[in-house]
Amino acid sequence: MTAQFIQATSNVTLPWGSLAWHAPDQGLLDLDFWPTFHPNMILQKTFSLWRYRAVFPPLAIAPVSFGEGLTPLVDIDLDGHQVPFKLDYLFPSGSYKDRGSTVLMTYAKSIGAKTVVQDSSGNAGASIAHYAAAAQLPCTIFVPDSTSPAKLTQIQAVGANLVLVPGSREDTAIAARAAAQDAFYASHVWHPVFYEGTKTFAYEVFEQSGFSVPDTVILPAGNGTLLLGCYKGFEELKRSGLIKQVPKLIAIQAAHCAPLYHQFHQQGSPDFWTSTLAEGIAIAQPLRGPQMLAVVRQTGGTYLEVAEDEIIDSFRFMSKIGQYIEPTSAAVVAGVRQYVKSHALPSERIISVLTGSGLKTGQKIQKMR
Ligand SMILES: *Cc1c(COP(=O)(O)O)cnc(C)c1O
Repeated sequence: MTAQFIQATSNVTLPWGSLAWHAPDQGLLDLDFWPTFHPNMILQKTFSLWRYRAVFPPLAIAPVSFGEGLTPLVDIDLDGHQVPFKLDYLFPSGSYKDRGSTVLMTYAKSIGAKTVVQDSSGNAGASIAHYAAAAQLPCTIFVPDSTSPAKLTQIQAVGANLVLVPGSREDTAIAARAAAQDAFYASHVWHPVFYEGTKTFAYEVFEQSGFSVPDTVILPAGNGTLLLGCYKGFEELKRSGLIKQVPKLIAIQAAHCAPLYHQFHQQGSPDFWTSTLAEGIAIAQPLRGPQMLAVVRQTGGTYLEVAEDEIIDSFRFMSKIGQYIEPTSAAVVAGVRQYVKSHALPSERIISVLTGSGLKTGQKIQKMR
């Protein structure tokens, strides 16, 4: 089974093993790779997401790994409804981004990358910094100067160069791309190999649910790295003949920054967005926006938006039951509560996720309480 990079809108292809992260016309690349999976391909003695190595494209080296993945799936009682959540805040760097980083850094190392550059609103940068350290690759991370201090400390502690960029998240991306001319650009948004890692979310849900899938999966939607990866994973399970249909995907945005919610429901967007407690999904111009809208539509799902007071309320609720999460993850909980109350059928099986640890955003949480 071969893998190659493709540009969806043209006939451009690039070989697996390429250093390129964009098409010649600067457009986005995807990975054309559709493995056939069977449960007997799971590496039963590997207690990490690398147990699904058979569905990754060929990587000729040992994984750059901390044994991440296989996160617990636990029931949480939301207003009388039991909803299983994947505890993806339990990854080594404190967010689910490690799913993508472990596979992307393994790819970078396998093709002989010498230095790594990346930009993010915090968690992806921290995650790539951890895995660059494990791969022994020098790493520079660009973040907006408004990023939570704990994330900055974390990025520097694991040895990455940190560059604070004034202005918006988009300004940060521009600065990083300029620096990426002579380095491996480990962008969780641009690089298709990152999504080969995030797709393991779907495989874990499948295995942990007794080789079946729920009716509905509720996910955060910022740049869509979990949403799109998750969709690909379920689509692979479907093409492998293991499930009948991809679960309905419900995507959650913060009302203070909800471009895709507005596009999905064909409402005009405000001229500018205000800041939100959900910093991990505050993406005003998601590069893969058209893909993110298409996959949600294809599954019969929808976009929901949550207000700041719903985020605070859900944060408080989760803290009281002992789940210390980022406000970004509280936004997803708020979305699940909205969905359960107003949209779900009584028999609908729903799964969601807690993507980031509260330990990352102590200062924000202090102000919120
Ligand atoms: C990155 C992130 C998200 C959103 O993921 P996208 O890939 O941008 O959609 C959600 N929660 C946390 C904690 C994150 O770090």
